[in-house]
Amino acid sequence: MAELLHESRIDSLLVTHPANWFYLTGFTGESGALVVSKKGATLVTDGRFVVQAKEEAIGVRVREQKGSVFESAVQELRDGKVRRVGFDADHMTVSQLQSARKASKGRLEWVAVPGIVETLRARKDAVELAQMRKAAILAGEIVEFAIGLLKPGVCEREVAAEIEYEMRKRGAAGPAFETIVAFGDRAALPHARPTGKRLRKNELVVLDLGVILGHYCSDITRTVFVGRAPKRIQTWYKAVLEAQGAAISAVREGVSCGEVDAAARRVLEGYGLDRLFVHSTGHGLGLEVHEDPRVAKGQTRRLEPGNAITIEPGVYAEGIGGVRIEDDVAVHTGRTEVLSRAPRHLIEL
Ligand code: ZN
Ligand code: ZN
Repeated sequence: MAELLHESRIDSLLVTHPANWFYLTGFTGESGALVVSKKGATLVTDGRFVVQAKEEAIGVRVREQKGSVFESAVQELRDGKVRRVGFDADHMTVSQLQSARKASKGRLEWVAVPGIVETLRARKDAVELAQMRKAAILAGEIVEFAIGLLKPGVCEREVAAEIEYEMRKRGAAGPAFETIVAFGDRAALPHARPTGKRLRKNELVVLDLGVILGHYCSDITRTVFVGRAPKRIQTWYKAVLEAQGAAISAVREGVSCGEVDAAARRVLEGYGLDRLFVHSTGHGLGLEVHEDPRVAKGQTRRLEPGNAITIEPGVYAEGIGGVRIEDDVAVHTGRTEVLSRAPRHLIEL
């Protein structure tokens, strides 16, 4: 960390995003701020979390907040006799920065340094990847459970509720994001929220779900057809599955994220379906469900060992429905591992 501070030409880093301070200290509380300097780290938090912080954040000083969290953090920085303080503009609000500036009375210089902790988080170690593997396997099991719930007459909200209850029963802290259950033409909405819509025969179903297990997220999507899929849907499914396979095959250390995205897009283009692929191919995954690196058009960032990403091409047509297939993939030195394990062929119920 001292090296990163040096590279960013700052004396201290103020960490205000819970996933980032958890990554650096193990503190799971949701209120506070972490001051990282060359000499060590201090967690500033309010009275509700002091005991918890001392238990969880081993080797980190804990300072009880007096006044606002930013006033206390600034006091800590001033006690540390630092001058240049880095903050992340993606996480600090304008009013938080104003109150930090005001409290520093001109003695601290505030420098925007985006993504320092996120860059570290993108390179998972073996322990983190082992946890992500477990989270991905559980998500695959939950998908299979969910497919068993798909009977004509059931509504989207009921299925989503059953899914999230089952996640918890099987050890998850909860869903990694609001579970997507989309029936029929609602499957055309990539981020459909479950409604009271009831399932009918001859409809598509998109299930997109993930668990938080041991702090790490998984994210998996399967599309099934209730009945015998018409030719058009079979073609879409074949195209999306091929696109996903091509993108997974492209995932390798040193390959740019844009190339992985292009691999999926090229296959869909061959089917004349690229216009219907309205989002990017994937995203990083870890303590949060969307993190670095982004697997999108034109992204020049190169994959590194320890990256964990989703690969999730899809096609969507308003009034008809959509098909998406999503799995979680880890990049290792010299090989790629698909973390999630649910069947990928078209399931017709
Ligand atoms: Zn998803
Ligand atoms: Zn996703």
